[in-house]
Amino acid sequence: LSERLGGVFERLTRQGALSEADVETALREVRVALLEADVSLPVARDFVKAVKAKATGQSVTKSVTPGQQVVKIVHDELVRVLSGDGAADALKIDNPPATILMVGLQGSGKTTTTAKLAKRLKEKNGKKVLLASLDTQRPAAMEQLQILAGQIGVDSLPIVKGESAVQIAKRAKTQANLGGYDVLFLDTAGRLHIDEVLMDEVQAVRDIAQPRETLLVVDGLTGQDAVNVATEFDGKVGISGVVLTRMDGDGRGGAALSMRAVTGKPIRFVGLGEKMDALDAFEPERVAGRILGMGDIVALVEKARETFEAEQAERMAKRFAKGLFNMNDLKMQLDQMLKMGGMQGVMGMLPGMGKAAKMAEDAGFDDRMLRRQIALINSMTKRERANPDLLQASRKKRIAQGAGLEVAELNRLLKQHKQMADMMKKMGKGGMMKQVAKAMM
Ligand code: GDP
Ligand code: MG
Repeated sequence: LSERLGGVFERLTRQGALSEADVETALREVRVALLEADVSLPVARDFVKAVKAKATGQSVTKSVTPGQQVVKIVHDELVRVLSGDGAADALKIDNPPATILMVGLQGSGKTTTTAKLAKRLKEKNGKKVLLASLDTQRPAAMEQLQILAGQIGVDSLPIVKGESAVQIAKRAKTQANLGGYDVLFLDTAGRLHIDEVLMDEVQAVRDIAQPRETLLVVDGLTGQDAVNVATEFDGKVGISGVVLTRMDGDGRGGAALSMRAVTGKPIRFVGLGEKMDALDAFEPERVAGRILGMGDIVALVEKARETFEAEQAERMAKRFAKGLFNMNDLKMQLDQMLKMGGMQGVMGMLPGMGKAAKMAEDAGFDDRMLRRQIALINSMTKRERANPDLLQASRKKRIAQGAGLEVAELNRLLKQHKQMADMMKKMGKGGMMKQVAKAMM
């Protein structure tokens, strides 16, 4: 019986690895999904390549197909790339007045986003905010910001006709200092495409304004172009973060991945409409799901893995309670301990096992010992692992030699195994075995 059950794990690892062909096939679909989501071509290509290297050889959860498993791996990698580090929506606004410079193409949503952020800082963080429009290009652009400021109840810099962007920036800084403002937003003029003159202007403003944050506002519906915009702005002005607007539209938001891949800068917020409240902190999970458009598959694989783990834990708990704890089980436990930082890590999580953990540590139960024990078990045959009672002197000698260790060490392992099996049997009467089994997964 234990022979058959022990085989469950072996069967799993044997048939369970993703082959290169599995990965290739699945990734072909993923590449199409990325391009459909408007991820830029070179970014999609690099991303798929990185995932391919990661996925090949990984194990497949029972009851899902290799293709489904690859999609899950892709999803997790997407989330990882999109996440970056640090809290997404934490703008650096200490040392008041902190200047936030808003840059981007014309029509990307800079002015709208400026007002949305100001409202958020005012309401959520209780900050005193001043808005200033440096847009000397578009007629009525300054009035647009002034009107929005009025709507959300924050101050805007009085409009003086005929000033240059740099002059306005200087006046805004002075005003922010004198007026005791916490945060000053500088909303720059847009450009239809990258344009040297306007880029020089933004650089000059940046030098004067010394912003704490320079946020690049990008239309989430722009696809391939987003990469050029991000490269240019980051190279010429230097950005500290990205805001993706129009994420309320039909687009799948592939620009998010392009932005992260090209600039490495965090995506801070997403715009979700024209209203002043339509701004959310960036959520990598949500955007990853949208880019890939395969949320069903991701959920399926997650569920399959949970179910599988629960089933395994249940099965193991039943076996342990009957005292069926063979060398395969012990090896799994030892592997797991190594992964989780030794005996202390595992036992510490189980109620009432703290003392056992301490004893084990005092007995020299460290990582090196774990590795030696695993080597000993690896050196046993399948039958021996399933039934340690088979181990007589000649077998012991062979096993110890195979692992390059002394028979005495093997004897210690066998004694330990026996003690654990007995303990499992005793504890099996309570409901604790399931927890032990779960901890071993
Ligand atoms: P700017 O030229 O970069 O300052 O862009 P604006 O802030 O003037 O925005 C251009 C247009 O896009 C306006 O009509 C905004 O209402 C609209 N807009 C801005 N952000 C969003 C968004 O997140 N979703 C939608 N649907 N529209 C937006
Ligand atoms: Mg504007």
